[in-house]
Amino acid sequence: MSDYSSYFTPASESHQKIEKAKAREMRQSNWWKQQLGKGLCYHCEKRFKPDELTMDHLIPIARGGKTDKKNCVPSCKECNTKKGYKTRAELAMEDLKKTDDK
Ligand SMILES: [Zn+2]
Repeated sequence: MSDYSSYFTPASESHQKIEKAKAREMRQSNWWKQQLGKGLCYHCEKRFKPDELTMDHLIPIARGGKTDKKNCVPSCKECNTKKGYKTRAELAMEDLKKTDDK
């Protein structure tokens, strides 16, 4: 086992399969359509058309996150791409580091 694997421990394949299947169902749900209907990105809080928003898992499935109403938020494509596999806490940490560098 390398150092890298202890830093990034992916969730089991079966967990990811199950949660991704749930996410597909969730996208069809009235609850999710309501979220998209608000037209707000959870991260940058800007307004978007519903079809410009994607489902974002606050704790990524690959990190053991689940597909439920607490963990799924509408996100614009830009925020979703920026975030990648990082959690919000890690992004906040990076921001802190950046300011320390100055
Ligand atoms: Zn956004």
